[in-house]
Amino acid sequence: ADTPTEPESVLLERRVMSFATVQEHYFQTPPQIERGWQHHLVDTRGRGYLDMLNNVTVLGHGHPRLAEAVHRQWQRLNTNSRFHYASVVELSERLSALLPDGLDTVFLVNSGSEAVDLALRLAWAATGRRDVVAVEEAYHGWTYAGDAISTSTADNPNALATRPAWVHTVPTPNSYRGRHRGPDSHLYGPEAVAVIADLVRSGRPPAAFVCEPYYGNAGGMALPDGYLEQVYAATRESGGLCIADEVQVGYGRLGSHFWGFEQQGVEPDIVAVAKAMGNGHPLGAVITRREIADAYRSQGYFFSSAGGSPVSSVVGLTVLDVLRDEGLQDNARTVGAHLRTRLLRLADKHPLIGAVHGSGLYLGVEFVRDHETREPATEETAAICERLRELGVLMQPTSDRMCVLKIKPPLCLTTTSADVFVDALDDALTHGW
Ligand code: PMP
Repeated sequence: ADTPTEPESVLLERRVMSFATVQEHYFQTPPQIERGWQHHLVDTRGRGYLDMLNNVTVLGHGHPRLAEAVHRQWQRLNTNSRFHYASVVELSERLSALLPDGLDTVFLVNSGSEAVDLALRLAWAATGRRDVVAVEEAYHGWTYAGDAISTSTADNPNALATRPAWVHTVPTPNSYRGRHRGPDSHLYGPEAVAVIADLVRSGRPPAAFVCEPYYGNAGGMALPDGYLEQVYAATRESGGLCIADEVQVGYGRLGSHFWGFEQQGVEPDIVAVAKAMGNGHPLGAVITRREIADAYRSQGYFFSSAGGSPVSSVVGLTVLDVLRDEGLQDNARTVGAHLRTRLLRLADKHPLIGAVHGSGLYLGVEFVRDHETREPATEETAAICERLRELGVLMQPTSDRMCVLKIKPPLCLTTTSADVFVDALDDALTHGW
């Protein structure tokens, strides 16, 4: 067990000894984190850090309402969802009420990977097809099917070449540095539609098209306007289903919208949710139409031992209550807008900033060595994150090139703390890292 006198480095060595090398940790010399409060973390030496990183902890750390609700429910009852109790029904009803009409049937699981895996299995069962179209530069999870459709090369340089034969990809709709930039990014939609048309012509029409409706892994950027409208239409015309992976971008983080797909003005057939849904407690869900859900019968029963347990359901309900009562989506919108404006001002001053992506409290600052070639400033980004840690701010890189700051703090972030972050970044960019 941890004792206050044990040096951090000894604990780190023990971690390295008992973990596989693929299980990385943040930072070269990571602070040993002991507690959290709202959008702050505190290490064993009592040093506080501004947490600009924890996108799962939407309500903030140590939320008393959540802690009390969980404590109470653990004392009262925890069992599996084949028993009949109120909270699992209430959570399912609350989730479907947040979604468009028709998305009325809910499966409760324990993680984003499970939710994406289940979404794919539902599409396979409902269509009787196997092929799936996914977007390049995406991450969808570590389970078999979630990993199969993950094409991000950040962790696996061979990701694209090693996908199973049922996975087909469309070009990365990255409007900053993909094949088409800025105003030309409207060309991504027709390109994706052409991939689907080719599959239909070759006798392999897709079971599903799956993507994050706001492009998280690429650095928190919006898909090109009209992109999902075109691709969803082509998918449906071919008899396939549209899956929205809302694991990262859903649940109010975008500020302007509760769900990422709303930003594109479309309605998916299957929605995968997790992360924010449990504020860090293992909780995920798939919400779909009844006829799609019923098709799962061809695969057997569905059962998850801890999915939708009384404790998990109470967590899910309390997260939704707190999001509503504390106006956190609204806070993401207003504080996010302030933060975005300040970051854009910083971009005028520091040429290393190539672009500021995102919406609400889902922002990305992309660092480039050259504004024309957009050569990624990967090493600089890693060094800046280390420097920010020294300055008391927790931040990490994202995207396939690891040159984008992934700004995804708890949604309770204050304007003052947003300013602390921008000032620290300004300091690092001005005085070196
Ligand atoms: N989909 C997306 C878009 C994600 O960002 C993640 C997690 N990074 C997952 C799925 C997998 O979720 P989990 O880690 O809860 O399994």
